[in-house]
Amino acid sequence: MPTYSYRCTECATAFDIHQSFTDDSLTECPSCGGRLRKLFSAVGVTFSGSGFYRNDSRPAPKEGGSSSASSDSSSSSAPPASPAPAPAATPAG
Ligand SMILES: [Zn+2]
Repeated sequence: MPTYSYRCTECATAFDIHQSFTDDSLTECPSCGGRLRKLFSAVGVTFSGSGFYRNDSRPAPKEGGSSSASSDSSSSSAPPASPAPAPAATPAG
């Protein structure tokens, strides 16, 4: 989670806060309620950590006509045999 630096334009209170990119920027000074200004420091902002989306290069799935050692073929299962209906003997009256 990146760290953002804010500074109040009223009381000049500066502080850092851990925020996510999806979080809204702070606009109110927690000290005096004045207007906050976001500071962008060249260093200090670490774009790493858990929860941060990063471009991870995953190996592409192997595809092509390589020697198939194990073929993933599911055996076609026959439809369930329905029980043959017993000949209904109609009682003669
Ligand atoms: Zn303030």
